[in-house]
Amino acid sequence: QAKHLGGNTLQFFTERAQRATIDYLQMENQLRKALVEGQLEVFYQPRLTLLDDRLEAAEALVRWRHPQQGLVAPAQFIPLAEETGLIIPLGEFVLREACRQAREWQRSGLADIRISVNLSVKQLRQGNFVSLVRQVLEETGLPASMLELELTESQLLDDIDNAINISRQLRALGIKLAIDDFGTGYSSLSYLKRFPVDYVKIDRTFICELEHSAEDAAIVRAIIAMAHNLELQVVAEGVETQAQMDFLKDQRCDEIQGYLVSRPVPAVQLAELLG
Ligand code: C2E
Ligand code: MG
Ligand code: MG
Ligand code: MG
Repeated sequence: QAKHLGGNTLQFFTERAQRATIDYLQMENQLRKALVEGQLEVFYQPRLTLLDDRLEAAEALVRWRHPQQGLVAPAQFIPLAEETGLIIPLGEFVLREACRQAREWQRSGLADIRISVNLSVKQLRQGNFVSLVRQVLEETGLPASMLELELTESQLLDDIDNAINISRQLRALGIKLAIDDFGTGYSSLSYLKRFPVDYVKIDRTFICELEHSAEDAAIVRAIIAMAHNLELQVVAEGVETQAQMDFLKDQRCDEIQGYLVSRPVPAVQLAELLG
């Protein structure tokens, strides 16, 4: 009986694994096709300065307009893109599109807004990443000072020496750099001193309970104080309420990003917000 059950269980798992593999392969092929057929879109979420109420920057966030499934969020396909290497052409697409868009807004006199683009550490490991960025800036005509690049804290730590080396070269071009999802990387803080960066983005998980959690409030206060002592600017992610904003203003946080200001929106809608 037990043996029999075991056999069935094994068969069950095998079938499941097979199905998962097929789904995965299908999705990989679909994503490959999406890149070629232009199904990927870039949305933008503005950042507000707390000192003088300006929309200073906007983060580029990729979306997949899937022919059957509609608008798909990055959590559903970025991990697959990372694993398959598709993150390299995907990342290049987002970088080029965001730079083109920012330059268009600048040229039309609508706004001088800096655009912030998320990077995967895989992109940094390509030998020619710095020249790619230089080329995209040249092609689009966007000044380097209007581009910011974000790397998550946990990815940075995977490959800190390479990341520091490339970051130095990017900053030498005049590009701004940010550490994303700060506070979630279980990291030693000492690398902050070594890492050439302009902004620290406090992860949303510390912001959402800010009003009710004394611990989160203490952590956020400490991150802001530490970043300022290192002469870094601080952005709080995921700000949804006025109370969170008031707390962050009191603590001299430099900028906020979150639904309170705006959700990520298509380029035309951001243009309306800016205009
Ligand atoms: P992230 O870079 O930390 O981006 C912030 C995420 O928080 C976005 O999710 C944004 O929509 C969400 N968010 C912003 N404000 C709020 C808020 O007030 N409340 C809540 N609940 N959420 C808020 P999104 O767009 O789904 O992106 C998720 C992640 O996917 C990003 O996190 C980033 O790590 C990754 N990602 C997105 N686009 C790209 C890309 O072009 N390249 C790479 N490598 N990663 C990307
Ligand atoms: Mg980001
Ligand atoms: Mg983040
Ligand atoms: Mg994130």
